[in-house]
Parts: sequence; C-alpha cells; structure tokens
Amino acid sequence: MSKKILKVALDTPLDTTFDYRWTHTTTETSFPQVGQLVRVPFGRREVTGLILDVLDSSDVDEGKLRDVIALRAPIAPLSSEWIALCRFAADYYHRPLGEVALPGLPKHLREAKPASIDRVLKKLHAPAASTTLPAVDPEVNPAPDSSPNSAPVLNDEQRAAVDAITRKREFAPFLLHGVTGSGKTEVYLHAAQALLEQARQSSTRAQILLLVPEINLTPQLEHHVRARFPHLTVATLHSQLSEAERLRHWLSAHEAHADIVLGTRLAVLASLPHLRLVVIDEEHDPSYKQQEGLRYSARDLAVWRARQLNIPVVLGSATPSIESWHHAGSGRYRRLNLTQRAVVQASLPRIGLIDIERDKAPEGLSAPMIAALHDRLAHGEQSLLFLNRRGYAPVMHCDACGWISHCRRCTAYMVLHKPERRLRCHHCSLELRVPVSCPTCGNLDLQALGRGTQRIEEHLKATFPMARVLRIDADSTRRKGSAQQAFEAVHRGDVDILLGTQMVAKGHDFQRLTLVGVINPDTALFSHDYRAGERLFAQLMQVAGRAGRAAMSQERRSEVLLQTRYPQHPLYHALLAHDYAGFAEATLNERRAAGLPPFIHQALLRAEAKTLPMALEFLRSASAQLPHEGIRMNEPVPLTITRVAGVERAQLLLECESRAQLQAFLTRWMPALRAMKTRLRWSLEVDPVDI
Ligand code: ADP
Ligand code: ZN
Ligand code: ZN
Repeated sequence: MSKKILKVALDTPLDTTFDYRWTHTTTETSFPQVGQLVRVPFGRREVTGLILDVLDSSDVDEGKLRDVIALRAPIAPLSSEWIALCRFAADYYHRPLGEVALPGLPKHLREAKPASIDRVLKKLHAPAASTTLPAVDPEVNPAPDSSPNSAPVLNDEQRAAVDAITRKREFAPFLLHGVTGSGKTEVYLHAAQALLEQARQSSTRAQILLLVPEINLTPQLEHHVRARFPHLTVATLHSQLSEAERLRHWLSAHEAHADIVLGTRLAVLASLPHLRLVVIDEEHDPSYKQQEGLRYSARDLAVWRARQLNIPVVLGSATPSIESWHHAGSGRYRRLNLTQRAVVQASLPRIGLIDIERDKAPEGLSAPMIAALHDRLAHGEQSLLFLNRRGYAPVMHCDACGWISHCRRCTAYMVLHKPERRLRCHHCSLELRVPVSCPTCGNLDLQALGRGTQRIEEHLKATFPMARVLRIDADSTRRKGSAQQAFEAVHRGDVDILLGTQMVAKGHDFQRLTLVGVINPDTALFSHDYRAGERLFAQLMQVAGRAGRAAMSQERRSEVLLQTRYPQHPLYHALLAHDYAGFAEATLNERRAAGLPPFIHQALLRAEAKTLPMALEFLRSASAQLPHEGIRMNEPVPLTITRVAGVERAQLLLECESRAQLQAFLTRWMPALRAMKTRLRWSLEVDPVDI
C-alpha cells in the first residue's frame, strides 16, 4: 500500500497551501499527479483543490493530516505552464494561488459532477463531435445564415502585418495600430489560419486565443469566425454561458479540441495546452481590467502568458492604451500600422464641432445636429447619437426649497427613469417611486436636471415623428438576448436613428450609418481621473469609427458631429485630425512631467468601513506597518464617491519608479496587513486604473 502527501491549493483567502494524505486503495485506479483536481475535507465542508505537489512526507505532523476524499481523475491534469500562469498572477496581484486558479474553472468541474464531465468528454472524443461545437445558445447566437464566407484579399499593410506575426516562432509582442475599419479582424484571422496551417503541416497541434472586450461583440465575431473556418472547432468563454455550456467549452479548450477560443477577459486563464497565438482585440478597452476580487488586467496577463510560452501576441486597437503606445515607442512592442480603411472607397468620416455656447441646444440637440439628422433621414441613411448617460435625467431638483434627489445610502444622486417612474441610484441600485411633490416642501413642480438617453429619445420622437428611433443602453437591454435583437434590427436597416451609451460605441460594423452625433462629452475633460482624457479620446474615436464603413460617393461622405462648450480644447483638435499619435505623444509628455504611469508604478490599498474616520485610521496604521524607503505613500483620502450602500470608502496610493521595488515592498507588506487582523474590509489593487 503506498502513501503520498499532496500539497493542495484551495480557494480560500488564506495565502497558503494545505497538506493532505493520500493512500492507495483498490477503488482508486490512478496515482495523484500535479495539476489534478482533488476533493478534500476543509473544516466541515468538502471542497475541490488543485494538486501543486506530490511528496513522500510532510513538514506537518502527519498524524494530524486529513485524508483526500477522491481524485478527480477523468480530465487531463492542468499543465505546469498553466499553474505557473496562475502563480504569477497570484504573486503579482498578491492574492492566494487557489483564489486565482480555482474560481475560473467550470463549476461542474469544481463540484462533484463526474457524470456530466464524463458525458461531455465522451461527446468531445466521439469522432463526429470533433468538427464543430454547438453554438453557445441558439437564442442568443443563431447559427450563421450565410454559407462559409471567403477571405478577402489582404491589402499590403494587412499582408505585412500577418507576415510579421507569423514569421517568428518566439515571443514577439505586436501592437497592431489600425484606424477604425482598417480590417484588423482580417489580420487576426489570417494570422490564426497561417499558424494553424503551419502546425497541421508539421503534424503538431496549435490553438489560438482571441480576446474581445465586450460580451456584446462575441456573437458577431463568433459568426464571422465560424463562417470563415467551418472545418475548425471554435469554443467561446464568457460570463453569459450556462454552467453546462461553460463546462463543454472549457473542456473543449483544455482537451485540445478547440482550435480557436474566443472569449472575454476571463478566457485569459483558460487551459490551452497548445496555445500558439494570443490576440487582444481593442486592447485599450477598460473591460480587460477586472474591477473586483482578483483585480487583474487580462491584457497584461496575456502578454505574460505569451512570453512564458514563447509565442507571438497581438494587441490591436485604433486607439491603443497609453501604456502600450509607450512600449511600442520604447521598442518593447513592435508596431504594425494599418493606416487606411480596408473597404475601397470607404473613408474616414469628416469630424466637426458644434459650439453649443453659440448654437444653443435647449433640449440637448442643437440646430445643426437636427439639420444633419433631417438630411440623413431624407436620404434613407442611418444616424447614431451617442450619449454616455442612461436614464431620463441625472438628478431631480426642487426650485422652491433646493431639495435634490440624493441617494440616502450613497454620496451620489438618484437618477430619474421616467418611463419606469422610478428614481434609481446607479451605485447601490436603490429604487424609489418618483415623488409627486417635493419631499421637504411639498412643491408640485419638481424639475428634471440634465439629460440622459431616455430624455433625448423623447425629444427625438417628438422632433422626428416619422423616424424609427431605437435606444440601446443597459436599461433597454435587461432581458437576455435583447441587446442582440436590437443590434440585429440596426443591421437589418429597421432603425433610422440609433441612440445609445458606450454599448453602441464599440466594434459594431453598421454598414448604413453615415452620421454620428456626440452629445456633450465635455465632463471628462475636467475629471480628477488622469486617465479620463485617454478614455474619452478612445471612446470618441471608436464611436466616430462607426460611421462611413461602407463604400460611399464623395458627395455623401459620412460625418461626425460633436456638441461641445470647449471647441478649442486640444483633445478635440487631435480628434478632428484623426491624430491618435499626436494625442498619445502629448499625453505621454504630460504623464512624464507629472510623474504618472507608465513612468511610475502604482498600487492602491482600499478600505471600507461604517465610518470614514475608521477607514482612514486603518489606512494610516497600514502605512506605518513597515519602513518604506523608496516607496511614496500618499495621504489616505476618501474615494470620490465616498459612500456606497451605506459603506464609507477610502484609499491609500503607493507609488514607485521601479516596479520590482514596489513588488518587493508589497510582498513584505501584505503579511503585515493580514496580521493586523482588522475587522474592516480592505483590498489591494496593483496597477489601479480608477483612482
Ligand atoms: P477594424 O476591426 O479594423 O475596425 P474590420 O476588421 O471590422 O475593421 O473591417 C472593416 C471592414 O473591412 C469589414 O467589413 C471587413 O470585412 C472589410 N475588410 C477587411 N479587410 C478587407 C480587405 N482586405 N478587402 C476588402 N474588405 C476588407
Ligand atoms: Zn422643495
Ligand atoms: Zn445609492
């Protein structure tokens, strides 16, 4: 009878591994291996862990060790590269390894569901199943109606990009900077195809990981990929899959059936034993950053993963993040440029500013904007209006006594949602009926201040009674599948004026769209957040990029109109010139002068407490735990929105020129903070993006 000691990572907040005893019994058919999942007792529960080591003896008194309940044998063990990726993420973001590795695994795999795992494995390994995996959800993802679409002939710039990406068989990070509509997707697909073909010819396997920022964009790209490669297996991984689907798709990647894995940020941690290329589409997009729990950057982890595996990684964007632009400038990334729209005769739209100090916009839309909308309607073309604020009005107000619709649980206003007759807090989701009269003085004439998408929609319908107006925002698309339906209506041409928040700004290839109107984006110009300008520029370039994607005659060139109070602002000037490079260089100069990332590195300690002084006091004593030479500890401060759902929040910012020095400090600091045994909640974020 043989005995082993297993070192196991568990999904617990404790930063440690746990030893368990395993004894060979006749019912066990196999021996434990590193990377295998295992069922173990933990306290009074039974949990799944990941085997990190198999040893003959333990440092702990073996009499005190508990026995393994069962080895979860049916799947191949997770690879040492995959474990190393999780370990890197755990170390870098200072979280326990088990908390990184385990939650991303399909639930059926973590829970004892051997039957369903066996069923999926059987299906995967059956010969008929090896061609395609069923579409994710027939409702959300109708099967592509078109027959296999053929690849266009690449233009010279696209060709050069594909050649550069596929030439090297080693770590090579590329920044694919391509204007909107320049055909970046074709570059990804051709590169993927070439690498898969190379592998086939050398009788090896290859897998491609394609990351996209938005779940709304996956169906569109998924159709495209499936139609292009009907003979390949495509798996998708995103947060809207059912558990059964997630298991199927995850296993398809892990068991090396999937050739291409398409997913949102969480897919960066998928098990891909034959990964040969990673693509991060719209690499600048904030949704690659997880903003709770393990606050990781999927983009940064993807680059690390490519380096570890010695494979190419492509970061694509029309408006790269300032970090990536900086890396391209310093030679760490290689820049590939697509300078023109791919469709011949499609040209970048003309961008114009409307000064709303001069051309007043009493109901949110100025006269020139209304005239432009009329013109598109008369020509049967589509328009898109972009306003990044949902609801009817951001706040209600009483002129008589000054009452204002504060949320009682947050330092924020409650937003008026007129169709639903509700006041809603967008921070804690508190909902109230709209008061008929002022809660303090009884005045019946309450004012709605400011404008959200619902109010503009009302105004549009009144101004253009014959037009088909469609609003797309988080409120109009709460039902599963409704966003997809709405986008399809736009593609079919059933919509004249599309109105929406950032949901409509990204990625979509609306062929009939010739006018993009942007309503008052000015607030971001004066934000306390140093990244606000970068985000605004990217967002405006993206939304502008929705226009003029099809071939057009010169007279009916498409147009972007932007209503602003600050037509002289340099950000708008760069935008008018489609000058991302100029904007990025200016931003880098500002950041260098101000000592901001990417020239320094940051970490943020956040605390949540019943009262603000408690949160601040915790941060103060946290900062005094260790000597911190070379690390700049800023004063603890309240967050801009200090209270959310009755919880007060404060933060402490750490800065350092050297990433390694900051990391070394954090590695010593974390155990000291854990040892403080405070009852209040705190968390650390490395490379924070919202400060
Ligand atoms: P991006 O992602 O860079 O904004 P897309 O990949 O969506 O651009 O491509 C824009 C449009 O150009 C799509 O309709 C695509 O089919 C088309 N396209 C891409 N490459 C070519 C090409 N080489 N020839 C013709 N059309 C192309
Ligand atoms: Zn009042
Ligand atoms: Zn609230």
